[in-house]
Amino acid sequence: MANTADVISLLEEMNVIIQENKDYLTQLDMPIGDSDHGINLARGFQAVSEKLPGLAEKDVGTVLKTVGMTLVSTVGGASGPLYGTAFMKAAVAVNGKQEVGLDDFLAMLSAAVAGVKLRGKSTTGEQTMLDAMVPALEAMEEAKGAPTGAVLAAGLAAAQAGVERTKDMVATKGRASYLGERSLGHQDPGATSFTLLLSVIA
Ligand code: ADP
Ligand code: MG
Ligand code: MG
Repeated sequence: MANTADVISLLEEMNVIIQENKDYLTQLDMPIGDSDHGINLARGFQAVSEKLPGLAEKDVGTVLKTVGMTLVSTVGGASGPLYGTAFMKAAVAVNGKQEVGLDDFLAMLSAAVAGVKLRGKSTTGEQTMLDAMVPALEAMEEAKGAPTGAVLAAGLAAAQAGVERTKDMVATKGRASYLGERSLGHQDPGATSFTLLLSVIA
């Protein structure tokens, strides 16, 4: 189980991993986008980390809702509203809870996926963050019943495999879609950043 303090420390670690991978994520966005994914997320997660100390007394849902709203207002680009929606939908799934477990996490991720699909008018196979999120969710739902660490490890492995598969996809959503067939062979930045965030939890 993870309480508010645990969730806050995971979010701090998410900020660290995003800052560490800022240049990498931006480089991935260079050939198929506008070279800002790492910059966008680094700005957003830095703003999140500044809000965290004020959230220690809140329930997990309120923490996640604040994260989502902060990302929407600071990240910009396509990924800001999408990651913002993901966290805000996840928040609704654990509304009022002081502690969350694996079942809650799966409900959060499921709500986040639905939110991204709706907001992005997107689905799997379009070379987006969904190509890491959906396989991760499916793998974890399949592994349910195993120890929590094993379930999360299965999700992370599936997300990483999903990131690899984005190289074989033609982008049909977001800036990369402007390239058409030329998006083939490129790793999606958003799928990569999602996998980094999941690695913190796993
Ligand atoms: P922008 O493209 O506006 O500069 P970013 O570079 O921050 O925004 O984010 C790009 C990432 O956003 C892509 O790699 C992709 O994963 C994700 N993305 C873009 N459009 C969509 C969409 N419609 N649905 C899901 N994810 C999307
Ligand atoms: Mg970009
Ligand atoms: Mg941009």
